[in-house]
Amino acid sequence: MATNSESIRQIITSLGADLCGIAHAGRFAGAPEGFKPIDIWDKCKSVAVFARRLPAQSLFAENCVPYTFVNTMMTQEVDRLTMQISLKLEALGIENVPIPSDDPYEHWEAERSYGRAILSLKHAAYLAGLGVLGKNTLLMNEQYGNMIQIGAVLLEADLEGDSLASYEGCPSGCQLCLESCPAAALDGDTVNQHLCRPLSNYRTEKGYILKKCYECRKVCPNALSIMGKR
Ligand code: SF4
Ligand code: SF4
Repeated sequence: MATNSESIRQIITSLGADLCGIAHAGRFAGAPEGFKPIDIWDKCKSVAVFARRLPAQSLFAENCVPYTFVNTMMTQEVDRLTMQISLKLEALGIENVPIPSDDPYEHWEAERSYGRAILSLKHAAYLAGLGVLGKNTLLMNEQYGNMIQIGAVLLEADLEGDSLASYEGCPSGCQLCLESCPAAALDGDTVNQHLCRPLSNYRTEKGYILKKCYECRKVCPNALSIMGKR
C-alpha cells in the first residue's frame, strides 16, 4: 500500500479512532522551543493526530465520579490505541514514534504547579484540522464538541496535511467558561494551572484523584458539538 495521508487515516480509523487528521511538521513552527515534533524525534516530517469520543452525558451527571471515570479510562484507551497504531504502522514499514495522550511529561514548574506535555495535543489536533480552540483552552470539534480525548504519532513520512477547521468556535461575546470558573483560572487564552489543579485534580481523604471541577467544559454551548446538539 502506498503511504499517503489517506492510507494512514484509513489504518488509524480502522483501529478505532473516531477522528483523524494529518499535520505537516512544518506547521509547528510556532510551538515553544523544545516542544515541537522535531524536538521529540528529528526524523519527524508529519504528525498523525486522532481522537476518541467520550461518553457525552457523563458531563451532566450530578456526581463527578462518572466524568472522572470516563476521563481516566479514555486516557488509557487512547494510549492503548496509540500503541496499536504505532505497532501496526511499524509492521507496515512506516517509521513512527507514539506520543502519550496525557502523561508522563518532564517539564514541571513547582512554584506555579505548571506542567507542559512534550507535545501539546490540542494544538496538534488544531493543526491537523480536527477542530478549533475555545476560550476554555479546549479543542472543540464540529461533531463531538469538546468531549474527545486526543492521541498522536509522529511519522517519518512526508505527508500532505489536512486543511485547518474553517468553522467558528466561540460565538462572539461568549464568556461563559470564564465567568463560571470557580477559581477564576481562565483568561481566554490560557488556564492558570496553579488555580485550577486543586479542583480539577482533587485528592480525597482516601487518596482518589477526582475531577471535582470541569465547569468550563460543561457550560460551553459547544460542549457536545459545534452545532450545539445534545
Ligand atoms: S476545570 Fe474548573 S477550575 Fe479548572 S479552569 Fe475549568 S472551570 Fe476553572
Ligand atoms: S463557553 Fe463560550 S467562550 Fe468558553 S469555550 Fe465555550 S463557546 Fe468559547
